[in-house]
Amino acid sequence: MSVSTHNVSLVRKTIVTLGLDRMARFWMGGLGCVIMLHRVRTIPPDTWEANPGLFVSPVQLEILITTLRREGYTLVTLDEACARMRHGDRRRFACLTFDDGYADNQHILPVLEQTRTPAMIYVTTGTVDRQVPLWDICLEHILRSQTELVIPVPPDHPAKPARTPAEKDRAFRNGLQHIHALLPEERNTLLQQLKTAHGIDALDLSARALLSWPEMATLARTDWISFGAHGVTHSPLRHLDEAQVRREMLDSKHRLEEMLGIPIRHFAYPYGNWATVSPREPVLARQCGFDSAVLSWGGPVLCRSNCHALPRIGFADRDSSIDLRLRLSGLRGWLKNALPHHRYERQEPQ
Ligand SMILES: [Zn+2]
Repeated sequence: MSVSTHNVSLVRKTIVTLGLDRMARFWMGGLGCVIMLHRVRTIPPDTWEANPGLFVSPVQLEILITTLRREGYTLVTLDEACARMRHGDRRRFACLTFDDGYADNQHILPVLEQTRTPAMIYVTTGTVDRQVPLWDICLEHILRSQTELVIPVPPDHPAKPARTPAEKDRAFRNGLQHIHALLPEERNTLLQQLKTAHGIDALDLSARALLSWPEMATLARTDWISFGAHGVTHSPLRHLDEAQVRREMLDSKHRLEEMLGIPIRHFAYPYGNWATVSPREPVLARQCGFDSAVLSWGGPVLCRSNCHALPRIGFADRDSSIDLRLRLSGLRGWLKNALPHHRYERQEPQ
């Protein structure tokens, strides 16, 4: 650990030990928080995962819930959070949200039942329907068994070595960047080539990484899990035209309503950062009938937060309770001068 990293770590620990984060939270902690999670599983030792930062173990999930309650938060559904925001209710709330609808999200149910905690899962419908691949899942699958990554679609992508975990990490990031830069027809060619040359059915592989429709229907019948839309193709909406954005929002909403038989009132922007969500998207989300839409960053929910651009606080296994408390305090955003949601501040309906 370098001296400066050590100093930062010491300052963070001191802030929490002295309870300064709780004092800051009194002023800057807002109305509550929406926690962003993804995958729920303990990573076995010696397993290479492309995105270890997306995982939270069931034990860590339980610790998260306990910590939030101990810090004075009431764990509520997003419906309840929206109602509290509308009525200016000052009692602090926390919502748990899980992005992408991974199959391992089934593991959250025992924890939610035991702790009597509601949660929201956002689903990308096109992947569940085997129309759109999750490229990170496909690349991860290939890199687990290969010692080099070859993407056989022009424009040229030189083969990348992938023998060690560090090389696999680099090859993964590089390969994903390359695939995202391909044109849609080039990506279709890649899908075909993976199937014919390597026997990999990317659409099937991706769908199997996510909850199936019957699994979602079972979870939706419990008292603890709600579902929200996350688009059809998991595209960065800022780069689409307005009609395409409406289709992403409405088609995913209607597909979930059709398959689960419940109203879908909440949306999560794919990627959910400033580079992929423009001020246009919250307006469209409201017009498409969503009660809320969440970003992927930003800190606590403030009085002035827009319900259709709700900030979130990320949490994963690599995060400590110090990280969580600093994020809840609002200090982190203040220190970094990163309060993105002011760009989407609440506006009166037009
Ligand atoms: Zn996502």
